Amino acid sequence: MMNKEQYIESLRQYKPIVYLNGRLVESVVDDPMTRPHVNSAAVTYELAFDPMYEELMTTTSHLTGKKINRFTSVHQSTDDLVKKVKMLRMIGQKTGTCFQRCVGFDAMNSTFITTFNIDRECGTDYHERFKKYLEYVQENDLMIAGSMTDPKGDRSKKPSAQADPDLFVHIVERREDGIVIRGAKAHQTGMINSHEMLILPTTNLGEEDQDYAVACAIRVDAPGVVHLFGRQTNDNRRLDGDIDTGNSEYAIVGGETLTVLNDVFVPWDRVFMCGEYKFAQEYVSTFAAYHRQNYGGCKVGLADVIIGSAAAMAEYNGVKASHVRDKITEMINMAETMYNCSLGCSCQGTKTEAGSYYVNTLLANTVKLNCTRYMYEISRLAHDIAGGFIATLPYEADYRNPETKGYIDKYFSANPDFSTEERIRMGRLLENMTGGTALAESMHGAGSPEAMKIMLYRESNIDHKKALAKKLAKIDKITKKDEEKDYVE
Ligand SMILES: Cc1cc2nc3c(=O)[nH]c(=O)nc-3n(C[C@H](O)[C@H](O)[C@H](O)COP(=O)(O)OP(=O)(O)OC[C@H]3O[C@@H](n4cnc5c(N)ncnc54)[C@H](O)[C@@H]3O)c2cc1C
Repeated sequence: MMNKEQYIESLRQYKPIVYLNGRLVESVVDDPMTRPHVNSAAVTYELAFDPMYEELMTTTSHLTGKKINRFTSVHQSTDDLVKKVKMLRMIGQKTGTCFQRCVGFDAMNSTFITTFNIDRECGTDYHERFKKYLEYVQENDLMIAGSMTDPKGDRSKKPSAQADPDLFVHIVERREDGIVIRGAKAHQTGMINSHEMLILPTTNLGEEDQDYAVACAIRVDAPGVVHLFGRQTNDNRRLDGDIDTGNSEYAIVGGETLTVLNDVFVPWDRVFMCGEYKFAQEYVSTFAAYHRQNYGGCKVGLADVIIGSAAAMAEYNGVKASHVRDKITEMINMAETMYNCSLGCSCQGTKTEAGSYYVNTLLANTVKLNCTRYMYEISRLAHDIAGGFIATLPYEADYRNPETKGYIDKYFSANPDFSTEERIRMGRLLENMTGGTALAESMHGAGSPEAMKIMLYRESNIDHKKALAKKLAKIDKITKKDEEKDYVE
């Protein structure tokens, strides 16, 4: 396993091409715009060496029997699924933001299952190839970006029907030694401070889309790969000091990129799907269920920070009213409901034929659908409690300027038990965790709400529910289909 320092140093061995605000980033480790994201991912390495968190952060490789970082593991039990959620909540509490490593974790777990299923039906050897790759990832404790989302172009059209064929990643050449792929992956969390990316399809595919049925692993600095770093709300504040960013150590969200793949060569031992379009839907929904499971972990960790911050703001403001307690209780209820859903889908997980454990799909989709509402509502209540000053505070530079500091200390003071600087720092943390980019992540990360609704409807056996009602209402004509059992055991 790598520790925090080794992870950060390891990134210096990679030379990804990264464009940010009209310039090339020389070093993602040293650049002040990207460093906070490196710090956040580094926590996943740091805590693996902390005896207090060893049980959550590490596990035993089912391939080698060695101790590994949990983020590189394949789940071996429902206990592993539960520990994943607890680990994500705990790291979310410590970073107050996205620590990025779960996407690759989920991509690896879904690839483990889908490659097994493809091989069984098609006689291919993707699963063995993937196991070898996984062992390499575990041995070197690599950070893997999970690369599913394509730019998608016109949403009403399938990949092969797009005006521009590159709007979904596709195979442009099949060679004796490997394949060549072209296209791009959008919204790529933690990409520039990962070692590799694991590419998988983003949607179900038809026969005409065969070239879009591709899964493979490539280095973030492979020839032909270009990254465009995404602009976030308030990102330039990182250059101005440490108060106005709110979270100067770890920033907000995951440092996403648009990652362009200009005819990238991938050798066969790194190709895990090549044309098996029938398995794309299963691949996507397996990945999505694992990824939706996460949101009742990491986002609840963030909600813990937001709730704490709102409670502290009420104190700093000198407000002791009962409505604050009521709102804080509401926030706690929403956070713990999301956590419950994540624990539920983990406890109800099942063993796959590949031998790994998979979450309960129906319950996993409730996690993320709740998140798309509750994180907004938790943020709304936090804004209510904090007051309007989180939207109108002067610049940090004016607080540091002796000419104006006095005005700010005087007119932004509230409860005399706390300094104005404490009040400002807490307000800035809340502002940045509950606005702009941070909120959009809770909405669209792991899929838009409609994607969860489709899965909920599909997985919940409405016919059986109708049969239950018909029986009690003493209505005849109950078909065999009506009587199928669907309850969660
Ligand atoms: C902060 C952040 C981090 C992310 N990290 C990653 C990552 O690390 N890896 C990764 O692969 N992806 C990542 N994603 C991508 C994420 O999975 C997508 O944003 C999500 O799937 C939605 O896709 P989209 O953004 O293209 O929105 P769209 O799909 O364009 O959705 C916009 C709206 O259009 C609707 N819509 C879209 N298509 C249709 C249709 N055919 N019919 C009807 N309605 C439709 C949707 O329901 C939604 O209401 C991340 C996203 C965010 C915001």
